[in-house]
Amino acid sequence: MRIGVDWGGTKIEAIALSDAGAALVRKRIATPQHDYDACVAAVARLVVEIEATLGRTGTVGVGIPGAISPATGLVKNANSIWLNGRPLDADLERALGRPVRVENDANCLAVSEAVDGAGTGAAVVWAAVLGTGAGSGLAVQGRALAGRHRIAGEWGHNPLPWPGDDERPGPRCYCGRRGCLETFVSGTGLAADHQRRTGQALDAEAIMSRMRAGDPDARRTYDLFLGRLGRGVAHVVNILDPDVIVLGGGLSDIDELYADLPARIAPFVFSDAFETPVRKSRHGPSSGVRGAAWLWTE
Ligand SMILES: [Zn+2]
Repeated sequence: MRIGVDWGGTKIEAIALSDAGAALVRKRIATPQHDYDACVAAVARLVVEIEATLGRTGTVGVGIPGAISPATGLVKNANSIWLNGRPLDADLERALGRPVRVENDANCLAVSEAVDGAGTGAAVVWAAVLGTGAGSGLAVQGRALAGRHRIAGEWGHNPLPWPGDDERPGPRCYCGRRGCLETFVSGTGLAADHQRRTGQALDAEAIMSRMRAGDPDARRTYDLFLGRLGRGVAHVVNILDPDVIVLGGGLSDIDELYADLPARIAPFVFSDAFETPVRKSRHGPSSGVRGAAWLWTE
């Protein structure tokens, strides 16, 4: 039995998977805010409860919004900032009395989709997560590709490629730079772009509904978003050339993307043809917790 934990900023979810990938039990709690020790204790308690419910023990994998630095052994890059600077894997192992695998949550999504999702059986799966922020994860042969600094897939803070003059220097990003992809292709970025051009403060979902109702301003915002996302994806294709591209996060619910995006990627790909499928994540919001469980595949 494999237990996966998805450690998010607002909720911590845990799941137990059978060998065939069936969800045996699922539990969810609110993330204790700004209290690291309470979070570690809560994760341990979720695992213990799952094992008590099912009457057996399992492996434990945990997805976090950040990474454990190989240089220090401490968490870095987590937007749940109370995680940063903590030896999370060691603390979880002590609390649970067994080895625990910890991986970036976007990589967990890629693993989940590679094992039994939209990228089943594909050798290289690249998963872009377009939500409040924008990031991505990588799975090669069904395993997370973490990278030397555990930052493989950190795509959102690369600059928007092939920018037009009206896209330079780009919006200011919380990371300190300007023009990061995240400021254009996240849900927040899409909404901010719409507001800059129209003065209307709407979220991404509302903008898409207006577009479907024929609103030309919303149509323009979607078209700009598509072009920018296409260039951002093409940049990755030129380096990694994945077998399948999976979209996750809130914006992956925009169904038009799957028909419209490939034609906006293709012109920027250095190839005579662009045939990579762009698919919606099969497991949606459950991909993170499922991928964490699949961190133990052997
Ligand atoms: Zn940035």
